This record gives sequence, C-alpha cells and structure tokens, in this order.
Amino acid sequence: MTAEKFDVDRDLAFSDIQFADVARFFTAKNIPPHCEMCRSEDWNTHDSEDGTIPVIAYVRKDGQFDVIGASSIYMMSCDNCGNTRIFNRHKISEWLNFNKEVISENG
Ligand SMILES: [Zn+2]
Repeated sequence: MTAEKFDVDRDLAFSDIQFADVARFFTAKNIPPHCEMCRSEDWNTHDSEDGTIPVIAYVRKDGQFDVIGASSIYMMSCDNCGNTRIFNRHKISEWLNFNKEVISENG
C-alpha cells in the first residue's frame, strides 16, 4: 500500500460518524434499525466525545500489539440486551462520502 493510499484510507477509517448518518446507511443497505435479539431500537455507540474510536487491534505471534494495522470499527450496543454490532468504519465513511445529506445550513 502506498503512503498516499494509506492516508486516504486512514482519513476514512478515522473520520467522525454521527448516529443519524449511520441510520441513513442502514436504510440504504437494508439493515434493520432494531436489535436482532430483542427488537429494541435504543443503541449506545462506542465513539467517545474526546475523539477516540474503537479499533480491533492485532497481536503478533511474538505478543506485540500492531496498532498501525488495526481496523477501526463503528460499534454499537443494544441498550436493552447488550447485543453488539460491529461495522467496518471505513465502509460506512466511504458510503457517507458519496451520500452526503443535503442540508442548507447557511442558506
Ligand atoms: Zn437487544
């Protein structure tokens, strides 16, 4: 992977994602908005207000963590039963890039 491609991928993989946009993504991809286990629609996301996001880190065979190659994810847990959904963050961000919501904020 070239450095330039890595930067683009990294920008997508670590971009901010709002839950309202995830809801649009679900609609477009025919993903049910309710929990598969209990049918609740109350979700908690795992992005932090300080800008940290969850990743799946890899461990090398020598026991060292490989954070550089970690996959960033969008994780949400059902507030009722705890069922957890994990999405490839890059995949959602890429879709959002091509499907920006049309909002006239400043006229
Ligand atoms: Zn549930």
